[in-house]
Amino acid sequence: MRITVIGTGYLGAVHAACMAEIGHEVLGVDVDTAKIEALAAGRPPFHEPGLGEVLSRNVERGRLRFATSLAEAAEFGDVHFLCVGTPQKPGSNAADLRHVDAVIDGLAPHLHRETLVAGKSTVPVGTAARLTARVREAAPVGAGAELAWNPEFLREGFAVQDTLHPDRLVVGVASASADDLLRAVYAPILEADGTPWISTDLATAELVKVSANAFLATKISFINAIADICEVTGGDVTTVAKAIGYDARIGPRFLSAGLGFGGGCLPKDIRAFMARAQELGVHDALGFLREVDEINMRRRRRTVDLARDLIGGSFLGRNVAVLGAAFKPDSDDVRDSPALNVAATIRLQGGQVRVHDPAAIDNARAAFPTLEYTLDVEKACEQADLVLHLTEWQEYLDLDPAALAGIVRSTKVIDARNALPTRQRPAHRGSRRLR
Ligand code: NAD
Repeated sequence: MRITVIGTGYLGAVHAACMAEIGHEVLGVDVDTAKIEALAAGRPPFHEPGLGEVLSRNVERGRLRFATSLAEAAEFGDVHFLCVGTPQKPGSNAADLRHVDAVIDGLAPHLHRETLVAGKSTVPVGTAARLTARVREAAPVGAGAELAWNPEFLREGFAVQDTLHPDRLVVGVASASADDLLRAVYAPILEADGTPWISTDLATAELVKVSANAFLATKISFINAIADICEVTGGDVTTVAKAIGYDARIGPRFLSAGLGFGGGCLPKDIRAFMARAQELGVHDALGFLREVDEINMRRRRRTVDLARDLIGGSFLGRNVAVLGAAFKPDSDDVRDSPALNVAATIRLQGGQVRVHDPAAIDNARAAFPTLEYTLDVEKACEQADLVLHLTEWQEYLDLDPAALAGIVRSTKVIDARNALPTRQRPAHRGSRRLR
């Protein structure tokens, strides 16, 4: 099939490459010319394990092309996947839908034959219905332009694997023909893996995505709230999490107490969900998400407070090594990164902060230019009064603490991800976990 993917960021670039990988002819479209040039040359514009191979293989095969023109996209595609960003609106909790609207407004006037536009961006419930009217009004083909919503659940760091082998595919459609068309797009995946196919209406599909993210955020904040209680009672939250995780109704995943969640999805998605509930007059229903957000932001403050306490009450004249800048390992994404939030706060409180990250330094420097950065872990730790482990890259888990002990000024470590291997209880080693 001939497919376009409009918006080639973390989601769209992977989707475009993977759609070509399963046999489609794909045109990726973005307004960012530098990104398009890199992708057209087979180079991923961001760090995502495995993307380079899938991308370059399909560009070389001639199945995957990139462009900046929506007119070209309209001419080329039978199905258009919409993958542009839906960030938080400045000054509000709501989602900023200006990029989604811009694509619809730019694409629709070129739609001269029957087409399916399938949104993948995460949007507030009701968006797809609104866009259906908008696309039909502006498209020369009128009602021949149909809209569907096909939310995406990929995880950065596993994006290629998650796209080629999703644990479920969800489509919100308004007709059987839209369902058939999307089934045909995903047929190679459905046939190979027997992936569950959930076909529903537009609103339900939109809600599946935001509900999934709200649940995951709640699970993380839940265990972090329990961690606060453990802290004052001497309980061990890691053992609590392990023990409750054996209950199949609870499950062990997303129960790691620590610095909390960040990134370009969970924080803005729970806020947009709350804002949408407010618009719908049911804000009480999602009141708990405010607390989920609060608990999460408190983790960052708590880490800074713990760090300050550990080095004697002030950051002035102190060197702090920060291991990790990305919001999660195996990604260079620093959007709403808890690690950078902590690093920048310590810098503002007078600490000398040196940040290491294997992949996210360029993005981190663009977001926080006043921090010091290095690609060398040892350099980051040189003469450090405190080492903060803030993003659980494998490289940090593999570090030899004995070797680092000779480099730092003081062997104090905060493992804010509760991930470093410890042989003894942390309290006996002079290192603290964020519990
Ligand atoms: P991103 O910022 O990495 O990518 C968005 C891309 O859209 C950018 O390359 C931008 O240049 C492009 N764009 C903006 N306006 C455009 C326009 N008018 N025409 C063409 N391109 C345009 O964002 P992302 O992380 O890929 O997220 C995209 C959407 O997918 C969001 O709604 C997000 O919530 C959702 N999502 C993301 C992930 C993830 O892990 N990143 C997972 C699931 C869902």
